[in-house]
Amino acid sequence: MKGLLLMAATVTGLFAQGEKLHVIAFGAHPDDCDIRAAGTAALFAKMGHAVKFVSVTNGDVGHHEIHGAALAKRRLGEAKESARRLGIEYDVLDNHDGQLLPTLDVRYQIIRKIREWNADIVLAPRPNDYHPDHRYTGVLVQDAAYMVVVPALVPEAPALRKSPVFLYYEDRFQRPNPFRPDVAIALDDVIDRKIDALDSHVSQFYEWLPWVDGKLADVPKDPAERKAWLKRTRTGPINPATRAALVKWYGAEKGNAAKYYEAFEVCEYGAQPDEARLRQLFPMLQ
Ligand SMILES: [Zn+2]
Repeated sequence: MKGLLLMAATVTGLFAQGEKLHVIAFGAHPDDCDIRAAGTAALFAKMGHAVKFVSVTNGDVGHHEIHGAALAKRRLGEAKESARRLGIEYDVLDNHDGQLLPTLDVRYQIIRKIREWNADIVLAPRPNDYHPDHRYTGVLVQDAAYMVVVPALVPEAPALRKSPVFLYYEDRFQRPNPFRPDVAIALDDVIDRKIDALDSHVSQFYEWLPWVDGKLADVPKDPAERKAWLKRTRTGPINPATRAALVKWYGAEKGNAAKYYEAFEVCEYGAQPDEARLRQLFPMLQ
């Protein structure tokens, strides 16, 4: 009964807001989508929309003590736990970590995922990034952007009859051009949900990444202290361009008050939304 009531509430909520949206986010590794979009995913999920994260590699080299199948298995479990905490789905493609190339085979895997999810929104890294897996994930998703509507390609997954909107995650790289925050989402209501999602990737945030940075000794042992440490180290100040975007989308009062955010840049490939369409696609901005 409780389930039925909840379902009715969700459907009514969706009806009131219009379409049910399908959001798919790609990352190279099982934690990349979480870093760039877990807060936005939590907001979409809370509003009854469907979100899927896809890791294009299985993450099987991202650790200093274990690697190969044992690590891939551990990271798959962490990704699934993150999805459970966010109320979304998480797929991990079985391509090796650290060896990703923009091949036809992987491009087809991505086309298939976008079509099967009937995506309205596709999120991905920009193709200029320090890590080759991130860079090629950006290239692969760009290469899929037009092909998702071409029926003769990957015919076993029916082509979309609409062009999704493709957006890039925020990054810090300046060349050849800096990231442009076309959409900025305030995360103040869901920042702890985002930290919970990151917290499920134990092998990364508490082991591998601090080890690479020579900061393993800084990681707290206590679970609550760990989350507080993650929140401190994984959030930062808001730059002027992002603040301006928050004010544009939320108005001066809420935009200036926001402490946590995620930002996205509209890709030139795929559907080109105007401001009104972006507010439909990101209904937390309405
Ligand atoms: Zn990564």
